[in-house]
Amino acid sequence: MSQAPKRKTSKSKRNMRRAHDFLTPVLSSTCPNCGASVLSHHVCRECGYYRGRKLLNTKEA
Ligand SMILES: [Zn+2]
Repeated sequence: MSQAPKRKTSKSKRNMRRAHDFLTPVLSSTCPNCGASVLSHHVCRECGYYRGRKLLNTKEA
């Protein structure tokens, strides 16, 4: 018994489904220390802080 979709999703339907994707950007959090965009649960690349502690040595340090 085949589980494949009977019809290919049209460009229109595919694009309609993706129309809301932009509402939650990948870079959704900001560093509380310097305000730069950072990936959540990642060390800030700008200042090296994560969860209130300095974990990386940056050029300004
Ligand atoms: Zn930062």
